[in-house]
Amino acid sequence: MCGIIGIVGKDDVAPRLVEGLRRLEYRGYDSAGVAAVHDGVIDRCRAEGKLVHLDDKLKKTPLRGQTGIGHTRWATHGGPTERNAHPHATDRVAVVHNGIIENYAALKAELEQHQCRFETETDTEVVVHLITHHLKQGMKPVEAANAAFDRLEGAYALAVIFANENNLMVGVRQGTPLTVGYGEGEMYLA
Ligand code: GLU
Repeated sequence: MCGIIGIVGKDDVAPRLVEGLRRLEYRGYDSAGVAAVHDGVIDRCRAEGKLVHLDDKLKKTPLRGQTGIGHTRWATHGGPTERNAHPHATDRVAVVHNGIIENYAALKAELEQHQCRFETETDTEVVVHLITHHLKQGMKPVEAANAAFDRLEGAYALAVIFANENNLMVGVRQGTPLTVGYGEGEMYLA
């Protein structure tokens, strides 16, 4: 029962992402992380254990960016380590995920044939590489995300941000809840 949150905001969103995750803490989790796009570049910060560890890291090294995603993880695939903590990312895409990608092993084998190198033991990482693969094929971000979602089996809610897209977030859900909220010039996913 993890928590995911996303904000397309008007100022640096990392503190609000952490605050949002704090409100979802009751769901239980083993690690946490946030990622944001700043000047077109994705950066992220992750930590094992309680949110306070993530918060401490962010105080030492603030994360810039007005569009970002956050996650508290309840590990299903791979241990509760920082390396396996969400968001998962390539230099083009970052993803947070609630749920399980049932067909991840087949997708991983396929992606490894395209020279994708996996860094984690999670099922989630296939989503990152699938979207990246489609971007490299020349698809636009939303098209690449949709093409990736079409391949996924299981129950999931996902939030995705993209390098060079300072105001774009894509969300999808299948079998698990995901809500969208609108503020003044802002958008939220949870
Ligand atoms: N299956 C994913 C993982 O193990 C997501 C788990 C969750 O919903 O927190 O990383």
